[in-house]
Amino acid sequence: MIERSSASDSPALHAEDGLHEECGVFGVFGNEDAAALTALGLHALQHRGQEAAGITTFDGAHFHSERRLGLVGDNFNKADVIGRLKGHIALGHVRYSTTGDTVLRNVQPLFADLDTGGFAVAHNGNLTNALTLRRELISSGAICQSTSDTEVILHLIARSKRRRIIERFVEALLQIEGAYALACLTNDMLIGARDPVGIRPLVLGKLGSAWVLASETCALDIVGAEFVREIENGEIVTITADGVESHRPFPKRPPRPCIFEYIYFARPDSIVGGRNVYETRKQMGMQLAREAPAPADVIIPIPDSGVPAAIGYAQESGIPFELGIIRNHYVGRTFIEPEQRIRQLGVKLKHSANASAVRGNRVVLIDDSVVRGTTSKKIVQMIFEAGAREVHLRVSSPPITHPDFYGIDTPRSSELLAANMTIDEMCAFVGATSLAFLSVDGIYRALGFNERDNRNPQFTDHCFTGDYPTTLRDQNGAALTSQLSFLSEIR
Ligand code: AMP
Repeated sequence: MIERSSASDSPALHAEDGLHEECGVFGVFGNEDAAALTALGLHALQHRGQEAAGITTFDGAHFHSERRLGLVGDNFNKADVIGRLKGHIALGHVRYSTTGDTVLRNVQPLFADLDTGGFAVAHNGNLTNALTLRRELISSGAICQSTSDTEVILHLIARSKRRRIIERFVEALLQIEGAYALACLTNDMLIGARDPVGIRPLVLGKLGSAWVLASETCALDIVGAEFVREIENGEIVTITADGVESHRPFPKRPPRPCIFEYIYFARPDSIVGGRNVYETRKQMGMQLAREAPAPADVIIPIPDSGVPAAIGYAQESGIPFELGIIRNHYVGRTFIEPEQRIRQLGVKLKHSANASAVRGNRVVLIDDSVVRGTTSKKIVQMIFEAGAREVHLRVSSPPITHPDFYGIDTPRSSELLAANMTIDEMCAFVGATSLAFLSVDGIYRALGFNERDNRNPQFTDHCFTGDYPTTLRDQNGAALTSQLSFLSEIR
């Protein structure tokens, strides 16, 4: 998705453009309860996007679409809404934006009437040349209805001169760059696609005779679908009444899935790349305990994201694990508040110290990542105020030194703590007794490798290494100063 930029230091991109977001997609082909199953699937993927959700279906004659701001459970819980979404094929999307306005026109699935028929698209990821393409499209007469990079894909498909929809789709994909896991719907087909290195996840499942596409396996589990396989990097699958067909239009490249799915984004019960996410997070904690031990009485996670790594750290170190922080689950992720002032308040609203587990103790505090340092600073202070004698902050991923452009929204370099401070300076900033991060090789070890293969890295890990797996056309380019839309909309 593109809207307002938060992910680059390029002055050009600080204009009214590019918003980056993590999302979840879900699709069903061949089930009479397709919309209800999709609502359930999206509910399981809610952690990937809490700002908006949408479902599009096809009933044999017409497409139906419901797109709403807010949570899946608040919007797709009523029989009348699901009842309107008739059909045996359905496509859904949850959206997570971190800055800028979330307006209905950007809520997915996006739909277009093509001369081949209706076409709906749901996108997880972020294109790195969408602004360039959008400018070219607009100057040649295209009228954009949203400020989403996903709409660019629709325009490219619409303009293709090919006859078959799959050929048009391929032609569009050959023009886009960046990260995408796409699920699309036509009147007789569900399509899944992953970018050439497979940055964002997408899996295929089976539910009786129906097929399911989902961002994560936890969404297959909720509907009782069995996991069939991952869509591979650079692969397109078309699902029709005749079954699943695979297409590989790109030159073969080794996969580089995003390492951040393992660290933060994916739900712990999902299987990503054959690895259980919870187990890998525990391994990260164990590796961290080996690399950065601390003299302490208790191991305390910053919930929820720090919990599996803290369990691993506690098991490896032999120091007891305690719930020293209680999380209020009725507050959204802190990142959702675009203003730093409000974000700080959000951290306070979200976590409270459980003094009985903290008082008088030397504490090892575990979190999965430090981005701006807002969470760590608040919580270190809170743990001291609750009576800790020492607070050793341990982070189960390496320092985030580079921004993300593929949809996970780690912000521009100037806001990234580790891009601007040494470890000692960060330690002083957050006010901890000591601070240590997992090493880059350490995280690869936790994921089952001996080390990072520097010639052919196994993952997309640019946040820690600056090694981006795609071109960054818009991010490095000069003249993208124009705003995306002249229309200002209020939520
Ligand atoms: P910060 O407070 O800015 O340092 O952010 C760190 C906290 O946000 C950690 O507790 C992480 O679990 C969480 N986090 C890390 N990456 C992201 C992301 N891309 N979006 C939302 N939250 C994140």
